[in-house]
Amino acid sequence: MTTTRFAPSPTGFIHVGNLRTALFNYLIARKAGGQFILRLDDTDPERSTEAYADAIKEDLEWLGLTWDRVEKQSDRIERYNGAADELREKARFYEAFETPVELDLKRKKQLNMGKPPVYDRSALALSEDEKAALRADRAGHWRFKLDLERIEWTDGILGDLSIDAASVSDPVLIRGDGQFLYTLASVCDDVDFGITHVVRGSDHVTNTATQIQIIQALGGTVPTFAHHSLLTGPQGEALSKRLGTLALRDLREAGIEPMALLSMMARLGSSDPIELRSSMDELVEGFDLAAFGAAPTKFDVEDLKPLTAKTVAALSVEDMRAALADLGVPADIAPAFWDVAKENVATRVGIADWWALCRDGAEPLIDAEDAEFVATAKGLLPATPWDGDTWKAWTGAVKEATDRKGRGLFMPLRKALTGMEHGPDMSKLMPLLQKIKL
Ligand code: GLU
Repeated sequence: MTTTRFAPSPTGFIHVGNLRTALFNYLIARKAGGQFILRLDDTDPERSTEAYADAIKEDLEWLGLTWDRVEKQSDRIERYNGAADELREKARFYEAFETPVELDLKRKKQLNMGKPPVYDRSALALSEDEKAALRADRAGHWRFKLDLERIEWTDGILGDLSIDAASVSDPVLIRGDGQFLYTLASVCDDVDFGITHVVRGSDHVTNTATQIQIIQALGGTVPTFAHHSLLTGPQGEALSKRLGTLALRDLREAGIEPMALLSMMARLGSSDPIELRSSMDELVEGFDLAAFGAAPTKFDVEDLKPLTAKTVAALSVEDMRAALADLGVPADIAPAFWDVAKENVATRVGIADWWALCRDGAEPLIDAEDAEFVATAKGLLPATPWDGDTWKAWTGAVKEATDRKGRGLFMPLRKALTGMEHGPDMSKLMPLLQKIKL
């Protein structure tokens, strides 16, 4: 069965970059009628928190990206210990003792000599006595011993890839303090949970090469890997530093619609156009991983705004029934109110302002040169209840009385009733005004 996973570390809020990974994996699973697992990569006890794990779930739920199962790496330390033993037995695991400073020095020397900064495996030459002496002084860390051959796979996005294992350092899988690193934990989980497809950012390509060898060493089945390009800002600038401001919860707070965001992310960076979808089924239907390219993908948060406005405008009064009732819009005028409001808001957040205007009236905006004109118009206001013809009747009468026409006639009246220079068709708005402050 097709099984995918989204594997965030609960060390912060998830952002648009993470969403891309989550969504691709989600859509692949749903399209194949398979399973989508939420895996919390929480092997770092200092940085991982329950609160971030909850926030991640909340953000995914907001978007409707539901998972079939949730797993936590911190629950699986026993398993990782077992895998470490297995690698030791197979002579694919060795203890090394260099400090970060020593490693840094080695790298600098190699670079100075024009060599790639790959770990030199000097720990492999240590005798048992030497290791015991080092152990008395500091804790050792454990490295996976790569087979020095080319590691090849057909990437779901990047095509045929081949990485020379000799150009990569033997990965550290257990730190000096005993903490398992993501690389080993992820491999064990992917094998045990039957993960068939792994889609993640292209910053993981080298990880993938080493993980393929670890999976093989542990006798597991290598999943299909695909690496999507990383997002950049609109000018192609790195987004990594700004991602903090592009957290999903900030977008939600700003009123961005889930469907607008999902529609964009399911297509951005692919050869297919971005199309606003109205349901998850449509998103699944229109998704094709093969259409994505290797080039960095430009992301502009501004593009979410028109898509959000379009999403809101496409909502029916039935969709909005409960939300409008919560705002206090009487059921009998809800359809007419929604008809006006939906065309005039950027996000759902703006609906409340239009209702406040209808319910309470707006502070009139009257320019000094229009004061007399507006006073005359006020005297000509038709009696309530107002209907769809009221605006026409009123402006007709005012025109006759004042000789004004066009913008000079309509604009001061709009401003007097709404306090704004722009807004909905006044014929539609007037019947909705429960009160005016003119
Ligand atoms: N926790 C890892 C990350 O967020 C997961 C990478 C992966 O998908 O394997 O980068």
